[in-house]
Amino acid sequence: MRFLTDIPARRAAINPGGTAFIDLMTDESVSFAQFDDRAGRATTLLAEAGIGFGDRVAILCRNRVEFFEILFACARLGAILVPLNWRMPAAELVPLIADCAAKLVLFGAEDEAVANDAAKGSGAVLIGLDADYAARRDASARHPGRAEWPADETWYLIYTSGTTGRPKGVIQTYAMAHVNYINIAQATGLRGTHATLNFLPLFHTAGINLHTLPVFFAGGTNYVLPGFDPGALLALVNAGKMDIFIGVPAVYRELTLHPDFQTADLTKVRHWACGGAPLPDILVQTFAKRGAIVCNGFGMTETGPTAFLSDPAYALEKIGSVGRTWLLTEARIATPEGQPVPRGETGEIQFHGPGLTPGYWNRPEETAKLFTADGWLKSGDLGREDADGFVYVAGRIKEMYISGGENVYPAEVENVLARHPAVLEAAITGVPDEKWGEVGCAHIILRPGQTAAAGELTAWCRENLAGFKVPRHWIFAADFPRTAAGKVQKHLLPKPERRA
Ligand code: ATP
Repeated sequence: MRFLTDIPARRAAINPGGTAFIDLMTDESVSFAQFDDRAGRATTLLAEAGIGFGDRVAILCRNRVEFFEILFACARLGAILVPLNWRMPAAELVPLIADCAAKLVLFGAEDEAVANDAAKGSGAVLIGLDADYAARRDASARHPGRAEWPADETWYLIYTSGTTGRPKGVIQTYAMAHVNYINIAQATGLRGTHATLNFLPLFHTAGINLHTLPVFFAGGTNYVLPGFDPGALLALVNAGKMDIFIGVPAVYRELTLHPDFQTADLTKVRHWACGGAPLPDILVQTFAKRGAIVCNGFGMTETGPTAFLSDPAYALEKIGSVGRTWLLTEARIATPEGQPVPRGETGEIQFHGPGLTPGYWNRPEETAKLFTADGWLKSGDLGREDADGFVYVAGRIKEMYISGGENVYPAEVENVLARHPAVLEAAITGVPDEKWGEVGCAHIILRPGQTAAAGELTAWCRENLAGFKVPRHWIFAADFPRTAAGKVQKHLLPKPERRA
């Protein structure tokens, strides 16, 4: 069996005085030695609450340093952390707490009422992080805990965002965190002197593992903000305090709308990266004009998360691509059954390697469906590889639709619409049509102060796309239904009432 090391303990030994976390709300700075100590005391607190090997510990809170010490306290006990989505009402959390049979629910003050309602009747013990948690932790002795963690053991569960349906708990192992670290470090040239911002929600793998644990593993600093704040982020950029920033397209879009964006010195960030949803070319070009190369990456909760991250050297030349396959995560383009398709053809993106989930919590049937017969993880996304091995994501298999016998990939149409000067964001869905089988319905958010009628946008699409890809229905909206990570929940978008 492979074992992985207790990283906080190693970091405390290697660079005890280095800054591990800075809470931007309180300006509190936590060194690696202090963090290791806090995690050790939190381990005792959890153990005294009855938590032992294999027990599930649910946590409902905004981004804060305590989350990470509890994550490592769980590792030291062999317990499994289950971050819960603070956007969900108690009624949606009840089945998740039941699914993982949480023994303990930790919560921040903002989420106290929901936590109480969600845990009612579950038998779980409740502990408030803003109540006496810190005092109890500090009064506890350090728990020795276990110093080595079996690579393939479950460390935490992430319930998927529900972009496409019922949430499932994706098992996250210690190996996934370590492989992600190696992949990210290799792709971004990560060093112990680097700093990043932790702000993506902690109930997504991106909030925990995307760049936060890699920067921590490398000995760098994580600034922590309870949520996304474009002004605070741009201030960090201008102050030259951030070296690596990884966000999602919705975050990049919002940054461009902030008044400080025009004057911010984007070149002070060494590595800009984006993933989680299709990245429109126009956003990459907007940042490039300001000297910032945004690298497009592809990740899934199931892949730990980062499976691709383009190299800055090719990010503009190969715009639209997520780059080439990784050091530790192999990718192929294949049929759903696992037969590789010829290079250049569109097929499902599938993965292989030590950084992938072993499956879903308590869902053997869904787990079996996640893999091909030869053991490759099926992403459920379509893509193609160009002659140089760069992969272009065409979108989710479920979202592709067929119009008059031709496949339409919504991401391509969205990308064209995003280039129109009046359009801030577009989301395309396939809807039934008597003549063509299916046609596109374009959901549009216009830029503030801009107007554009359906006719003008149809003409724009006709200039840039084959006729069968041009949407036939147009719905204008102020915003879209989204997950906490800003992803559009397409299944919740309204259906067109009549032909435009
Ligand atoms: P659910 O599993 O509940 O449907 P989800 O699929 O959004 O939610 P995540 O694991 O958060 O769950 O997201 C992974 C998905 O995000 C991928 O399968 C892909 O569809 C999309 N995605 C990620 N990165 C990119 C990218 N660079 N370009 C296009 N799509 C992307």
